[in-house]
Amino acid sequence: MELFFPERVFFEPVSLNYPLGQKLFHFFESKNVEIIKAPIQKVLNSIPGETENQKYSHAKKTLVITIKKALNLDICKPSADYRFSLVTNCPGNCEYCYLHTTQSFKPYIKIYVNIEDIFNTIIKYIYKNNNNITSFEVASSGDPLAVEHFTGSLAKTIEFFGKLENGRLRVSTKFNNVDSLLNIEHNGHTRFRFSINSKYVIDTFEHNTANFYERIEAAVKVLNAGYPLGFIIAPIMVYDNWKEQYKELFEKLAQKLNLGNIKDSKDAVTFELIQHRFTTVAKNVINKRFPNNRLDMDESKRAQKWGMYGRYKYIYPPEISNEIKEYISMLIKNYFPDSIIEYYT
Ligand code: SF4
Repeated sequence: MELFFPERVFFEPVSLNYPLGQKLFHFFESKNVEIIKAPIQKVLNSIPGETENQKYSHAKKTLVITIKKALNLDICKPSADYRFSLVTNCPGNCEYCYLHTTQSFKPYIKIYVNIEDIFNTIIKYIYKNNNNITSFEVASSGDPLAVEHFTGSLAKTIEFFGKLENGRLRVSTKFNNVDSLLNIEHNGHTRFRFSINSKYVIDTFEHNTANFYERIEAAVKVLNAGYPLGFIIAPIMVYDNWKEQYKELFEKLAQKLNLGNIKDSKDAVTFELIQHRFTTVAKNVINKRFPNNRLDMDESKRAQKWGMYGRYKYIYPPEISNEIKEYISMLIKNYFPDSIIEYYT
């Protein structure tokens, strides 16, 4: 896919005190892009657009270069012990995106330039965990690969974790620009997971992301580069023909991945399974931004589950949820007998 390029870039003045802030400033200064130096509070008012939807569309093409101020890390179960961010948001435009709940009113993409502070925090959290192996998710608030061609921050982070005896990094992505990450010293400490889905879900709801084949091609590259590999099947949706389409997904994945031909796969491939869910906040935002969306968000057909941030989320009722779990697990065992299913939620 074509690499993302922004319409405008905001620099918070403090970001220019950091090497990455300066690097980004010099880079964008030489390009045909609007540059604005302003505090972050001014960003929303400066994004063009008459209607909320026009503003949303321009915000998705707006970068804000800033620093991460709050350096305390949240727990990130079930995917990792903790999570941290190099970026917030992403230029993708998936209708069901989990960020509609937490980031809907500031959908611009923030890039954090104080990565040494972030690294120091990670060391503190491993220490706090009695120096036991501690895992960190880097993509729970956005997709760092989507802007890696500007920042190089993910490569630095992978190398940083490569040197940590007890730190493990978990990356998840719907993008495919992995080439700059293939020849760096990762030491097997980073697990790369590609988020994939059935043809209907990708074609109908995922926009401005790498397509299925591009993601698989990228997955083969990272596997050949010796990274532990995984797939996140999310959000799993139930619709007419869902069983046939998810079977087709694993059939194609096994065929394209062709694990027998992989040079250097030391670790089992992992799968994480996440059923479709939504919050009331997300539903309202999605219906405004994508008025003709075909997402199934009928609360009366769902069960409630208490979620993070003090909100209920709507998940499938137990009988459908169990059917999803059993069916997808069966497909994975058939097509990837040596793989590990890490969780279903
Ligand atoms: S790629 Fe991920 S973070 Fe980006 S819009 Fe899609 S679901 Fe959201």
